[in-house]
Amino acid sequence: MSIKPQPSWTRQIGNILILLASLFLLANIFLPGLFGTQVPRVPYSLFIQQVEDNNVSRVSLGQEEIRYQLKGLDTAPGQVLSTTPIFDLELPKKLEAKGVEFAAAPAKNNWFGSVISWVLPPVIFVLVWQFFLGRGGGNPAGALSITKSKAKVYVEGDSTKTTFADVAGVEEAKTELQEIVEFLKNPQRYLQIGARIPKGVLLIGPPGTGKTLLAKAVAGEAKVAFFSISGSEFVELFVGAGAARVRDLFEQAKKKAPCIIFIDELDAIGKSRASGNFMGGNDEREQTLNQLLTEMDGFSAGDATVIVLAATNRPETLDSALLRPGRFDRQVLVDRPDLSGRLKILEIYAGKVKLDPQVDLKTIATRTPGFAGADLANLVNEAALLAARVGRTTVAQGDFNEAIERVVAGLEKKSRVLNEKEKKIVAYHEVGHALVGSLMPGGGKVAKISIVPRGMAALGYTLQMPTEDRFLMDQSELQDQIATLLGGRAAEEVVFGSITTGAANDLQRATDLAERMVTTYGMSKVLGPLAYDKGQQNAFLGESMMNPRRMVSDETAQAIDNEVKEIVEHGHQQALAILRTNIELLEKIAQQILETEVIEGEDLQTLLGQAKPVERLSLSV
Ligand code: ADP
Ligand code: MG
Ligand code: ZN
Repeated sequence: MSIKPQPSWTRQIGNILILLASLFLLANIFLPGLFGTQVPRVPYSLFIQQVEDNNVSRVSLGQEEIRYQLKGLDTAPGQVLSTTPIFDLELPKKLEAKGVEFAAAPAKNNWFGSVISWVLPPVIFVLVWQFFLGRGGGNPAGALSITKSKAKVYVEGDSTKTTFADVAGVEEAKTELQEIVEFLKNPQRYLQIGARIPKGVLLIGPPGTGKTLLAKAVAGEAKVAFFSISGSEFVELFVGAGAARVRDLFEQAKKKAPCIIFIDELDAIGKSRASGNFMGGNDEREQTLNQLLTEMDGFSAGDATVIVLAATNRPETLDSALLRPGRFDRQVLVDRPDLSGRLKILEIYAGKVKLDPQVDLKTIATRTPGFAGADLANLVNEAALLAARVGRTTVAQGDFNEAIERVVAGLEKKSRVLNEKEKKIVAYHEVGHALVGSLMPGGGKVAKISIVPRGMAALGYTLQMPTEDRFLMDQSELQDQIATLLGGRAAEEVVFGSITTGAANDLQRATDLAERMVTTYGMSKVLGPLAYDKGQQNAFLGESMMNPRRMVSDETAQAIDNEVKEIVEHGHQQALAILRTNIELLEKIAQQILETEVIEGEDLQTLLGQAKPVERLSLSV
């Protein structure tokens, strides 16, 4: 249910003014008599002349107009004329001398006209203002209503059906938020003992992990109103409007207490002010942020239980003032789910589609490390779409497999055609990855080779499936990965004696990995267990301006470069060695994939199983 926007008085006055103005204009056009008859106007000199000539019978002296009547015949009254008054102290004397009857004009009945002369200019101004704002801001409510927070603030009160049961795989976060639910349900219990109920809870985690969902679930569990607004909405507002909105939001919320205010994308307003100034500040954001801080400080837990939940995926950019006690002093990590978490999430979403009894969700969960809740929800839907497209009534395991590939690698692009030579190069390249990967299994088991182009960039791909969730990698596994990444290029070298541009991305990733081994993980004997990069970015400087490396001497920088090169080159030599030893197998698999375009499953394992093992080259560093 959305709160009805409160009618803005400024807007209403604007409307009334516009109405009045149009009425007046219409009246003047159609009923001129209403505001005084129009009479011919003559120059002042002519009027004086006529007075001198004794032609004038009566004069009425007004502020804006002198109206007079010429002497008429006995049978008909004289013509009425008017002239513009001139500051002429002699006039009454002249009139008296000529025996003209004269009087000050009665107050003009035209008060309406003078009101309009006050009112019309502002109305025109307002109309122009609205016109421009309507176009520029895309704000349909118009310019006069910017100070009130509008439909974007919504309450989902008792109607909220989201509960913790709808959120899975983030058990720790749920446990922590359960406490918040208790506060909301039963604030007195905590207050009477003197405990301070937290005001702000910050949900931190990558996109799609269920932060918004969790916030709603807290409201749903506690059965309280839920006000939600997104930080990015403030950014487009005028200076001052964001702050007004925040004030308004808290005002509304306090009336509905106990309740939850949820600020999504807090980083959009809560960016560190220091970095803001450095990059050429943003007044609006700062004012909004200040207002938010003021509001959070302003309400004391005693009078109303309003808990502010906020979500961000970039906590490091937040202004430190936000994280102080009494503000967002609680932080809840909402991370990507692990294997069992993914399984639970899959169970939630699989329950919403018709599933083939053969489907093994555990296998799917195993194959999707790194997927966030939103990705898994999307995956189930993709699978259902695939099944429906071919007219099946239930979703099968195969649909899930294809959906995973889709989500991982983008949609299959059959339309993209490679010429024969390109196809051949891609085939050898991918088989190169696969062979090195199967003998150097640190990067996971090779599950599929394909030379069907997918997505934007990949002409072919080799899919490696981790056999379990990995949180730690050892040095040799990283070296395996680098060798595997270089396997494609090595195959091109071995077979064609030349290399193509197709390996650029592989080299990029291999080099990154090698660099991290040296500078982050301290895996180099020469450079020792030092972290040469700066893990946490310096909030004061913002990120983009930062040199990610610590200040190092020229020699150290040189040494790092040499180490990185050494590691990548080692992987390259390892890959070359493997492929030279297994050149016939490389040839065989490549020929086969040129026919079938895809090799996977049993076939692939049998083929790769024939590879002759190669001694691991030792890395000298
Ligand atoms: P975030 O706010 O962290 O970016 P959302 O809460 O907006 O993520 O998640 C988007 C959608 O993904 C949710 O509406 C829900 O359908 C699904 N989803 C994400 N995480 C989970 C989860 N842990 N459990 C169940 N569904 C989830
Ligand atoms: Mg969200
Ligand atoms: Zn490659």
